[in-house]
Amino acid sequence: MTMSLARDAGRFWSDRTAGVLLGAACGDALGVPYEFSRRLADTETPEMIGGGLGPYAPGEYSDDTQMAVCLAQAALEHTDMGSGPARQQVAEAWLRWRREGASDIGAQTSSVLSAAEHAGGTILVAATMFEASWKRYQAGAPSAGNGSLMRTAPLALAYLDDPEGLADIAAMYSALTHADPLAGEACVLWCEGVRHAVMHGDFTGVQAGLRLLEEDRRAQWQAWLDEAETKPPHAFSPNGFVVSACRQLGQRSPAHPSPRTAPGREVSLPITSGSPLRPRYVPETTPTPWPRSRARCSAPAGAHPQFPGTTTGQCTVGPGTAHAS
Ligand SMILES: [Mg+2]
Repeated sequence: MTMSLARDAGRFWSDRTAGVLLGAACGDALGVPYEFSRRLADTETPEMIGGGLGPYAPGEYSDDTQMAVCLAQAALEHTDMGSGPARQQVAEAWLRWRREGASDIGAQTSSVLSAAEHAGGTILVAATMFEASWKRYQAGAPSAGNGSLMRTAPLALAYLDDPEGLADIAAMYSALTHADPLAGEACVLWCEGVRHAVMHGDFTGVQAGLRLLEEDRRAQWQAWLDEAETKPPHAFSPNGFVVSACRQLGQRSPAHPSPRTAPGREVSLPITSGSPLRPRYVPETTPTPWPRSRARCSAPAGAHPQFPGTTTGQCTVGPGTAHAS
């Protein structure tokens, strides 16, 4: 009896953590065809048809999930994501991804990674990336894109019992490429939203995460999130701006109805390009731990060589294995 309960509890947590990554990958793949294109009318239904900036195959996820996989893999291998080796692994993985596997890449991320490329392979790689990100922000270049927000969710899974630690880590990995404090604050809120959803099964975590921000920033974000409750997601546009994207994600009661996968297995989907799904309910039949939940694409073999976060057509790559085609 005890063993049965333990097994059921294990499956429960496995399903929810898998749902964070699987949902984000699916939401990304669903948003791919619509990035930078017109907003769908209320009568139109988004379809996972590929295309977009890649162009992507139907069901293939994009740059945001590819970068998130780098974070997830580091979280698997490091108990302290704030450590130097963890930062170095993530920075190196992102540089390698840009060189070898990026199917598309945001302008801000590309700028920072390019500037840090010369430090690849050295212990200074993460510090160089932080510096490049900071210099861009200090120079007044646009630095509050939604790129760091779209990749941040896996961090929550490494800090499910430590909201304060998660806030520190979320802000830090945001700043690697997005030094604007708005980007870091959005990542803090969204990570707490994900952590809370996994632990408690509701959507109130983003609002609850306000306590994790610096005290003088809470009122501003409270006002932004409160207003978001009164309007549909598309009222906050363009969602390339991290604050707009976070306001869409943070809605506790989306003005638009949610797609339903099956009775009792609802996923709430903000219809924004590549938005993570909210992990309130996740498939009960997710068969394997989350490293295996990467979406498979059907792009031609070799389209994304040597990058473990993107699998290609007919590929049978296992978790944690570099793609060889
Ligand atoms: Mg993308």
